[in-house]
Amino acid sequence: MKPTPFDYTAPRTVAEAVALLGDPARDAKVVAGGQSLIPMLNMRLARPELLVDITRIPDLARLSVDSSGSLHIGAAVRQARAAADPAVRRGWPLLAAAIGHIGHPQIRSRGTVCGSLAHSDPAAELPAAARALDARFVITGPGGSRTVSAEDFFVATFSTAVEPDELLTEVVVPAPGARSGWAFEELTRRHGDFATVGVAVLLERDATTDTVGGARVVFSGAGPVPVRLAAVEDALLGTDAGEEALAGAARAALAGLTPSDDVHASAAHRRETAAHLLVRACTTAWERCS
Ligand SMILES: Cc1cc2nc3c(=O)[nH]c(=O)nc-3n(C[C@H](O)[C@H](O)[C@H](O)COP(=O)(O)OP(=O)(O)OC[C@H]3O[C@@H](n4cnc5c(N)ncnc54)[C@H](O)[C@@H]3O)c2cc1C
Repeated sequence: MKPTPFDYTAPRTVAEAVALLGDPARDAKVVAGGQSLIPMLNMRLARPELLVDITRIPDLARLSVDSSGSLHIGAAVRQARAAADPAVRRGWPLLAAAIGHIGHPQIRSRGTVCGSLAHSDPAAELPAAARALDARFVITGPGGSRTVSAEDFFVATFSTAVEPDELLTEVVVPAPGARSGWAFEELTRRHGDFATVGVAVLLERDATTDTVGGARVVFSGAGPVPVRLAAVEDALLGTDAGEEALAGAARAALAGLTPSDDVHASAAHRRETAAHLLVRACTTAWERCS
């Protein structure tokens, strides 16, 4: 199919983009990498009158680390650029690994980090990684900017806290602790496919007790938004991340996850796979805790 007719514009400032999105006379939509939106246009699942391309806005091309050690990724930063960035690979390897699982190089060289987050596909890798890393989302609209936590950003399938007249301008990711370890695991039918289910894990080793002092575990493909279960994290905290603790965490995942059935997998298959991937990811993350 072909898209319905639309106009295209590429503003050079965030203020211009926000003004276009807020214009009541036109049904405008942000386009970033276009890797999700263009297929939606072609299938006529979206019919905007105007596409506002935000990738030509210099202020949104920023990828930097601030004085407090947090990583800032602007809305125009492509996935491939973020994954290849030495600071990201050194300080936020979970993010780089998650991006490595997205589609194919062609997709990652066009798709943006913020575009994937704003699209909020339940099976996508970046939303789970961002939630595991406790990312903050900077949203800019007619009234200025506001910052939203990962807990509040993902609202429902393909729905976030970003309003139609707003823009996700950047994602801010705090530095993981010095004694933390990470892992990202997922199951796909074929390399490059969207995952059936996945898990992002960030563990922290307590320096005094040599046990798990911090745990953030987030599942993708297991619900409408990235799923974080307190029972899974509680089963790990204070343990040596040994066999017994991992079995407890897996039991908590089996009991707590409520994925849905679809043409790709049954809910039971998703739940069991998630529990297996959790054990594997926690083992790797714990080994990586320095
Ligand atoms: C063949 C193929 C395979 C893929 N495989 C995977 C995969 O395995 N895993 C995965 O996670 N993704 C996959 N994708 C999707 C890819 O990651 C997209 O790049 C991503 O979902 C959207 O990023 P984008 O920059 O292309 O956004 P676009 O497609 O431009 O936009 C997507 C949506 O987000 C909105 N949007 C974009 N940026 C912003 C912003 N800054 N503020 C507010 N709204 C915004 C748009 O209006 C639109 O609604 C695949 C895509 C293709 C075509």
